[in-house]
Amino acid sequence: MKIKAAVMRTTGGKLSIEDINLSEPKHDEVLVQIKATGVCHSDLNSLEDATTPLPTVLGHEGAGIVHSVGSSIKHVKPGDRVVLSWAPYCGQCAYCAEGKVHLCEDAFGPMFAGTLLDGTTRLSDENGKIYHSSLLSTFAEYAVVPAMSCIKIPDEMPFAQASLIGCGVSTGYSAAVNAAGVTAGSTVAVFGIGGVGINAIQGAKIAGASKIIACDIKDENLEIAKKFGATHVVNCSAPDTVEQIQAITDDAGVHFAIDCSGNTFAAQTAWLSARKGATVVVVGAFNPTKELSLPAGGFHRLGKVLRGSFYGDASPFRDFPRIAQMYLDHKFMLDELVIKTISIDEINEAFDAFHDHNCSNVGRTVITFD
Ligand SMILES: [Zn+2]
Ligand SMILES: [Zn+2]
Repeated sequence: MKIKAAVMRTTGGKLSIEDINLSEPKHDEVLVQIKATGVCHSDLNSLEDATTPLPTVLGHEGAGIVHSVGSSIKHVKPGDRVVLSWAPYCGQCAYCAEGKVHLCEDAFGPMFAGTLLDGTTRLSDENGKIYHSSLLSTFAEYAVVPAMSCIKIPDEMPFAQASLIGCGVSTGYSAAVNAAGVTAGSTVAVFGIGGVGINAIQGAKIAGASKIIACDIKDENLEIAKKFGATHVVNCSAPDTVEQIQAITDDAGVHFAIDCSGNTFAAQTAWLSARKGATVVVVGAFNPTKELSLPAGGFHRLGKVLRGSFYGDASPFRDFPRIAQMYLDHKFMLDELVIKTISIDEINEAFDAFHDHNCSNVGRTVITFD
């Protein structure tokens, strides 16, 4: 079938809106009519990354309607409303067998190769194949995706809000609820209030934390954090950030510190702000050339846990429908994260906005298809 898509043809260039070919789903794939797709900072990273295979269709935060399914698909059917996950898992490897589906390595090879799980593409034009992005390629009217990327959500769920569940929303919420395991009455500090951090705040609130301290260098992001459940805010460009957090927590430090910033200094501050026996979760991605150093003195006496978390330890088939239902029950804020809806013809404006330093990047521009 012919589909309208935003095609990336050059690194760092403008996306071009074109009619390209999408072939039928194979037996373990699903054809989804995309109804909404968020424009994520990771898409900008891919656009500016010289290793991104070209040409490609970006987009990995999608929601839509199942159009048709491959012969072996049983868990969704045409007409179902779905959120897409960019981390399909196999269900059979050692990680999946241990319930750590977010650590399954099935998707990584195809993700970097720009293909679907079988190593081939369904996208093409008259010059040959067009690569996929994150096994999804949602900047298009339709997408063929792996079965395990399709998670059914309630019919009442609006598409723009649903599209965000597949990436930053789940990563942040899950970092608090799954990876950190925030408990009722505990104290939490979240570092880096962007698309992930704002949802770690929501997760901490839902888990029943008594004090939720938002930490960022932008005051406007801290103001937004208050609307999402932060009880205290600390501008962490201040040299006494750790002391301020300790003062808020009876001079002990927080029970849970969650670093969503990808900044090693923030991760160090998170570690220092955590009390003895605390859990410190790093969910932000560091520049691989950096090293994270922590004070070694008294390390063994602190009893703290430092752990990394990929995708917030999300389990898509469990967590996506839960977040959707909490939204429908007015317990999870998504409307406020959709800062603007645009058509796919306007997609380059969404990328231009990332370079506007006044832009908070807490919410998303969402492309909708009517
Ligand atoms: Zn994303
Ligand atoms: Zn697996």
